[in-house]
Amino acid sequence: MNTLSVYNPVKIHFGTGLIAETGKIAKKYSDSALIVTGKSSMQKTGTLGRLLKTLQDAGINPTVYDKITPNPTIEQIDEAAGIAREKRIGLVIGLGGGSPLDSSKAIAVAAKGDIPVWNYLKTPAKEALPVITIVSTAGTGSEVNRYSVMTNPETAEKPGFGYECMYPKEAIIDPEIMLSMPPYVTATTGFDVFVHVFEAFTGKARNAFSSAYCMQAFYLLKDNLIKSYGEPDNIEARGNMALASALAGLAIDISGVGIIHAIEHPVSGNYPDIAHGAGLAALTVESMKYNLKACKRDFMLIAHHFGIKRAGKSDDEYAGALIEKTGEILAALNLNIGLKDLGVEKEKLAKIAGEAFTTMGFAVQNNPETAGEKEVLRLLEASY
Ligand code: NDP
Ligand code: MN
Repeated sequence: MNTLSVYNPVKIHFGTGLIAETGKIAKKYSDSALIVTGKSSMQKTGTLGRLLKTLQDAGINPTVYDKITPNPTIEQIDEAAGIAREKRIGLVIGLGGGSPLDSSKAIAVAAKGDIPVWNYLKTPAKEALPVITIVSTAGTGSEVNRYSVMTNPETAEKPGFGYECMYPKEAIIDPEIMLSMPPYVTATTGFDVFVHVFEAFTGKARNAFSSAYCMQAFYLLKDNLIKSYGEPDNIEARGNMALASALAGLAIDISGVGIIHAIEHPVSGNYPDIAHGAGLAALTVESMKYNLKACKRDFMLIAHHFGIKRAGKSDDEYAGALIEKTGEILAALNLNIGLKDLGVEKEKLAKIAGEAFTTMGFAVQNNPETAGEKEVLRLLEASY
């Protein structure tokens, strides 16, 4: 048997209304906090206001950095890190979806050093400011893992990175914050969870621990992915999706992602207006077909977890039924789309295929079926 090590130090708090406890939790780390958030959702819903209140009640001095865009850029991260350094801030609190949370971890690293955050792709980071994540989408799982994804707008590269010092200290998962997600955000972020579980479960680096997280996440997804989209006020469904998202985040922390993510990053890197989950939606069915042979038994097992009846189907038919089911899920989420629908230009496909290897090579390596640039380009064309 292969040797393996598993490590995840994030203290996870789950429950409705828990954001009100942030002050108490944060006080352990510092009297000053940089809140990293997006431009509008957390302000409009009053969530940022509630966070500021609990911090102030606990005697913590907050500074707000609210310029993080979806698909965050290195300029935003370096600017916020500069503010943290200048103000000698002792704690970073990420508030929002994957974009602010990923940024909070990158900012925590960059604030400790004196080099641009981009350089940390090559220079391993040994220390970071403590980070608390408060997640508003279900989602990336960023709240519980060490990864950060950032875009270099000059080159359109969108790599991910993650060092041990980047694990959040604590994650606050309060499903009430997720009730305000508009349908498109619910659908795209929810589908991101599906792809995380799928890729962690089938990837070469999977092990007993990541698979255990995936199993429970599959059950939660089966009953709650479409429900949370159709019934946005259903707190039970929102809570279950939040749990599925965190489980998936833990799973990819152990065993990484695969070709769907490897290709999606350059898609939304070149087209920053494309939501990560929408890019995934366009690429998933063709990527599943590509992996079908290498993962037949896994597909059958996932089909079983998704409640697909075996009833006389051959192994090939049963495994293939999972791909059909995925198409149905995408249709129910109104995400039955191709890259063309997302505004991707055909002439860009070759550049995107190349970048899957240069920025996300580890994810291609982890994919169950071997793939070279030619195969990736074919996949992009089939997903157009
Ligand atoms: P974002 O954080 O980009 O948020 C998407 C949009 O939803 C924004 O416009 C945001 O508004 C809005 N929004 C977020 N939460 C709410 C809410 N509760 N109510 C209303 N509106 C809301 O989305 P994701 O969570 O999908 O994060 C995507 C990023 O994470 C990508 O860069 C992706 O590559 C990365 N990622 C990271 C992973 C990891 O393991 N760390 C894994 C997979 C992806 P506003 O901007 O105003 O806040
Ligand atoms: Mn993802």
